[in-house]
Amino acid sequence: MLVDAHVHLQPHGSKPPMTLARIEEYVRAAEERGVSAICLTEHLFRFEEAFRALHGWWDADPDPRLASMVGGYWQDHVSGSVTDYVRVVEQAKSAGLPVYLGIEMDWLPGKGDVLLDFLAPYDWDIVLGSVHYVGAFGIDDPAFLFEWEKRDITTVWSEYGALMHELGESGLADVLTHPDVLKKQGHRPADETPLHAAIVDGAVATGTAIELNTNGLRRCDEIFPAMPLVERAHSAGLAITLASDAHEPKYVGHELDAATAWARAGGFTEASYFVGRQRRGYELE
Ligand SMILES: [Zn+2]
Ligand SMILES: [Zn+2]
Repeated sequence: MLVDAHVHLQPHGSKPPMTLARIEEYVRAAEERGVSAICLTEHLFRFEEAFRALHGWWDADPDPRLASMVGGYWQDHVSGSVTDYVRVVEQAKSAGLPVYLGIEMDWLPGKGDVLLDFLAPYDWDIVLGSVHYVGAFGIDDPAFLFEWEKRDITTVWSEYGALMHELGESGLADVLTHPDVLKKQGHRPADETPLHAAIVDGAVATGTAIELNTNGLRRCDEIFPAMPLVERAHSAGLAITLASDAHEPKYVGHELDAATAWARAGGFTEASYFVGRQRRGYELE
């Protein structure tokens, strides 16, 4: 068994309709790579309900340039209703396709109640929790590279770590995604241990799992997260998921053999996925 626990139906920059036919393309790609099931985890900011409930959060950042960049990005990415998304994924599940209903939820500090209300009406299998922003600084978005030039790397890592810690402690997500995505564009501090400790301590409080994400290999030649964090998660007794973070069918299951080897090197013999928000483990092959 092998589950790709983080897959998007839409690439950034385009909005192919989220249809049963599109889901079937992903399932075919999964089958070709020996992937038994996929968790469809579209971004929170794809949904108009989320935009309505959360828009303007970026204005809490004192820098109007950053705020307007994030506002523009969120506006551009809205592609439909979460109700329609849930319906088509449920339809795929009913048709017997090996898919699960998930979402990649941005952790926005101070918005926990709004996020909870947004999630409440639907029967999610899996909720991924992500931090893509420190204030309105898009830490993994190349459009914000100029901001990295102005900031102290250790400070950004520490601020990001505090947000990941808070997300873990909130229990709102089943999995913490791409845990050290900050390294994506090469911004790494001398000591990454404080981030690893912050993430694992937050996750341990609620038993939140940690994701091994092969998009890191495509972006910066290293899986998210680095090995010391995998080892620390293992020592702490946390579960892991394996994920491609594909945004198009060709990347479904991409390098999951490398993720499996990374998990093993960190001490794991089992990976997990979630059904109805309950964790299910399977042996690494
Ligand atoms: Zn993400
Ligand atoms: Zn993602």
